[in-house]
Amino acid sequence: MNVILLGPPGAGKGTQAKRLEEKYGLTQLSTGDMLRAERKSGSELGRKVQAIMDAGKLVSDDLIIELIARRIDQLKGGKGFILDGFPRTVPQAEALDRMLAEKGLRLDAVIEMTVDEAALIDRIAGRFTCAKCGASYHDRFNRPKAEGVCDACGSREFVRRADDRPEAVKTRLEAYRRQTAPILPYYRGKGVLRTVDGMAEIDEVGRQIETILGDPI
Ligand code: AMP
Repeated sequence: MNVILLGPPGAGKGTQAKRLEEKYGLTQLSTGDMLRAERKSGSELGRKVQAIMDAGKLVSDDLIIELIARRIDQLKGGKGFILDGFPRTVPQAEALDRMLAEKGLRLDAVIEMTVDEAALIDRIAGRFTCAKCGASYHDRFNRPKAEGVCDACGSREFVRRADDRPEAVKTRLEAYRRQTAPILPYYRGKGVLRTVDGMAEIDEVGRQIETILGDPI
């Protein structure tokens, strides 16, 4: 099963992608995580995208398409993938269609997570992730069960993103409205777009997504 999660920054795509990995055995492909890993490794690509990412702007289509194509190529067998943060522009969506067609793969669902923009800044401001396994948390809405210890892997190290600062968040929201939202009609036209209420509790959003995807095979 191959799924896209769509929604503005802070909609909860990463959180739900992690749940889907566990429940359905799918692989999360997050272009944001891939770029952050490139930066951490100090690669040329990582250095190239640093300033763009920290400002909250989108990295060029060519670069992202190449990055994701390599990852999809490496996925031999497996139960499928969840795309989180890709595609983000119409050219990226078109390139994805071509990549999938070449590999004889298809998209089973494109799930839009709708959110109230006013709540996003609040949501984003409080979020942090485990430095070791990437599990996501929030100061107010989703704290680790034991204070300061990751529920998933027991690590005590957490990180916050540089682009979660309010100025960068504003730019990211604008990029979503201007560059990403136009892909919604693209997928609606193909009859694969489904919508869930991203403002609901994490478990409830998860249930809505599972209702769309059906039982794991
Ligand atoms: P994310 O973790 O998905 O919020 O992505 C963090 C940042 O990485 C974005 O603000 C962009 O600078 C960059 N990025 C991630 N995915 C894409 C994409 N599909 N197209 C362009 N830029 C991206």
